[in-house]
Amino acid sequence: MTACRIALISHDKKKDDMVALAREFLDFLGRCQICATGTTGGRLQREVGLVVESMLSGPLGGDLQIGARLAVGGVDAVVFLRDPMTPQPHEPDINALVRACDVHDIPCATNLASARLLLKQLQSGG
Ligand code: PGA
Repeated sequence: MTACRIALISHDKKKDDMVALAREFLDFLGRCQICATGTTGGRLQREVGLVVESMLSGPLGGDLQIGARLAVGGVDAVVFLRDPMTPQPHEPDINALVRACDVHDIPCATNLASARLLLKQLQSGG
């Protein structure tokens, strides 16, 4: 049975962190339905062995695809490891996704520490 529908997104300098996080929570994430932006999803499949539905890459609209799914009730939680130190060409899309989380009251962790708290809570059934 699917434990949770989770979206995983990471900016380039945070992708190693995302891979490490996914390894840490592999047992739980392996029971979840995962969608991810394209490059993040590819790495999670190749390096962690997770089954992932990969959307478009973030700069090509992947964040918007995830936001659209979330807006119609298709995502329970988002882990979005953002890079606060590097300008992103798709900043409006990133803001739209985080806004969609706030509009629809979907938990959204944007750094490793909050991602760990969120995943721990979800895996305990909360
Ligand atoms: P990516 O997209 O996983 O395809 O790199 C993430 C993003 O930049 O939003």
